[in-house]
Amino acid sequence: MTVTLSHAADIAISDKYRPQYPDDLPALQQALQGALSGTSDTVVEYERALAGWFDAREAIAVSSGGAALSVALFAAGVRPGDDVLLTPSCPLCTVFPVIAAGANPVFVDTREHSFGADPDSVRDRVSGRAAALIDIPMWGYPTEVDSLRELADSLELKLILDLAHSHGSTLRGRHLSSYGHLSCFSTHERKPLATGEGGFVLTDDAELAERCRSYSRFGNLNGSDFGLNYKLAALPAALGRSRLAALTEQIDRRRANARHLLQRLRHPQVREKRIIDGGNPNYYFLNLELDFADNRAFIDYLDARGIPSDIKRYGCQALYRFPALTQYRRACPNAEALLAAMTTLPVHPALNEAALDYMAEVINGYQAP
Ligand SMILES: *Cc1c(COP(=O)(O)O)cnc(C)c1O
Repeated sequence: MTVTLSHAADIAISDKYRPQYPDDLPALQQALQGALSGTSDTVVEYERALAGWFDAREAIAVSSGGAALSVALFAAGVRPGDDVLLTPSCPLCTVFPVIAAGANPVFVDTREHSFGADPDSVRDRVSGRAAALIDIPMWGYPTEVDSLRELADSLELKLILDLAHSHGSTLRGRHLSSYGHLSCFSTHERKPLATGEGGFVLTDDAELAERCRSYSRFGNLNGSDFGLNYKLAALPAALGRSRLAALTEQIDRRRANARHLLQRLRHPQVREKRIIDGGNPNYYFLNLELDFADNRAFIDYLDARGIPSDIKRYGCQALYRFPALTQYRRACPNAEALLAAMTTLPVHPALNEAALDYMAEVINGYQAP
């Protein structure tokens, strides 16, 4: 096996990956002829295009994925002192908006082989102060959002989905967003739909949509309603609208890349993370389950050969293990086991077959120390 730098470089661009979007310039030029604020026609048109692409009744464009969570939490009725249930296997980005809202994050465990919240853990930890449950399908792999929606309804909680990784992931042929009361997306540079910074909220509930819109616009400045400014400006909205046209094709390429790579994997201690029944991931990142005595050594081995891992990049661990969050510690053994026995592989649309073959070859050649 030869390790060539050019292959390694192809893979490493996952970190600063910029796909080519030929339509950006005309779209930006057109937007520059109109108004540029967050209430401009360009933003309204982007919201319509988002709602159409995702089969949602309403889309509210906001300035980031974090803003989308803050807006959704407010719209869901989360107020200071309330509990918000969520799994600890998500990024810090999901829990900080909960704390900023003055709410208490209550960590619930995941199921054994999925990042979805475990219904038994939810039932066990839900209290009268609980207002919302956030579920976070990581790296685009669907979670059991259908049964979580039923559970949330029965417990009178709002189900908020953090779909920052999951544009285009489906369950039983429906976008994951259709299962949440409110679904939050990021369009940060690194996400499957990218506008530099940005985000949006989807909902099928007109009243929740109105509360999202009002809260993200200073309560419409009517003096009765509270709000902050979380609007998305017209230029990133114009980018988002033109790039949305390429999203389906990009996700198809991610899926094809994942298939190509998986067909070549031969290592007995490495397999794709299980996909739940009826789920179709967008392959934001390919997830592998690892079965080594020292899984970190495998991740380091790949990293040293130019194949990066989100687990290493973000130091992924149960959130209550980070110093800022130790006070929220609750036992979540399944979530810990999931994170400790996995890694991510880039399969983004800019990767060529040689790079995918190289990754498979490096993995197949691994011998645990
Ligand atoms: C990126 C991300 C966010 C935050 O999105 P920003 O646009 O960076 O604010 C929230 N949740 C998850 C799961 C993310 O990956």
